[in-house]
Amino acid sequence: MTDRLYYRDSFLYNFDAEVHSVVETPRPAVILDRTAFYPTSGGQIHDTGTLISPDAKLRVTEVADTEEGRVVHYLEAPLKGVKPGTRIRGEIDPARRRDHMQQHSAQHVLSAAFVRLFQMPTVSFHMADDYCSIDLDTPSLSKKQIESAEYLANEIVLENRGVDIRFVTREEAEKIGLRKLPPTERDELRLIDIRDFDLTACGGTHVSNTGQIGSILLRKSEKVRQGYRVEFVAGERAVSTARRDFSTLTETAALFSAHIYDLPQQARKSLDEIRWLRKQREQSQDELAAAQAATLLAESPENGGRKLVVRTFRDRELSFLKLLAQKLTRQAPAIALLATESPQPALVFAQSAGQPYDMGALLKQTMAKLGGRGGGSKDLAQGGAPSAEGLSAALAAAAESLSR
Ligand SMILES: [Zn+2]
Repeated sequence: MTDRLYYRDSFLYNFDAEVHSVVETPRPAVILDRTAFYPTSGGQIHDTGTLISPDAKLRVTEVADTEEGRVVHYLEAPLKGVKPGTRIRGEIDPARRRDHMQQHSAQHVLSAAFVRLFQMPTVSFHMADDYCSIDLDTPSLSKKQIESAEYLANEIVLENRGVDIRFVTREEAEKIGLRKLPPTERDELRLIDIRDFDLTACGGTHVSNTGQIGSILLRKSEKVRQGYRVEFVAGERAVSTARRDFSTLTETAALFSAHIYDLPQQARKSLDEIRWLRKQREQSQDELAAAQAATLLAESPENGGRKLVVRTFRDRELSFLKLLAQKLTRQAPAIALLATESPQPALVFAQSAGQPYDMGALLKQTMAKLGGRGGGSKDLAQGGAPSAEGLSAALAAAAESLSR
């Protein structure tokens, strides 16, 4: 078993140890007789830092538990000239350790707050690089409950309560009533005691006073299989997250020339406007298509009792071409061969009901020449061309083929 120095002192960042064994494969690693490095476990992620031997200084990139209860330090490269018994110095990255202590202690405070206020037990804790989350065993969770728990948790932070590490036997632990009793067979249990607020079994690294947590900010909550997941950030993460939120809001507010607190109202107003404008546009397009169809029909030659309209537009949307084709073929017996060069080169072929041609087949033939794709029914077909080049010529050729 590795002697875990962090069990007794979470603020021990530098330590001396002796090499127990050296691992070469699959990754270079070293096991020490004692360590202050925390291995990934209990929801908390591992420390990083450096190991210094008489001849080398190497980064510790990952730390894990072994099945035998040892702590293995994975290294960026093999630690040369080291064998069992070599004296080693270990240095933990202090900013990362402090961040983990803030997040983990915040989790204990928050989990206890949800139990105190609403009898909602925490069933799991997850720590990621940017945020943490707890899963609460509850069928429902309101915005108000989240705010109350956040308020109480921050009260506990402000009161700067002591956080002590205690070791008790399993028998004692069962008597004192812990928030969470682990299912292990171990005789000795390590408890984290937040004075007069929370007592729970835990192997993690923690602050020594709740004030060191800084602040606890609750973020997203979502329904998960077993209850509700609540995301949170604490300490410096709370500050950097609030800073990022503010930057985002400020950037958005500048777009609206509004104050950040007026953004929801502004966004709603803009969305309403967009909806109204869309409706107006639809109506105008419809009117424009009807008028243009009448003009085109008047200008186009009649042949065999039907009008033939062939027209390439510079910039019309495909939806407008379809609308125009619909108007043309409904206002009179007609065939419409329409194209647009931009924003996307496209073609629409249509004929009035009862006309003898096959627009789908005609479009396919035309597309084969243009190198595009498309298709449709006997009366209406559409397709997209890779470029505007040759569109007019292709329409003329299609019209020509109809008179044959
Ligand atoms: Zn814990």
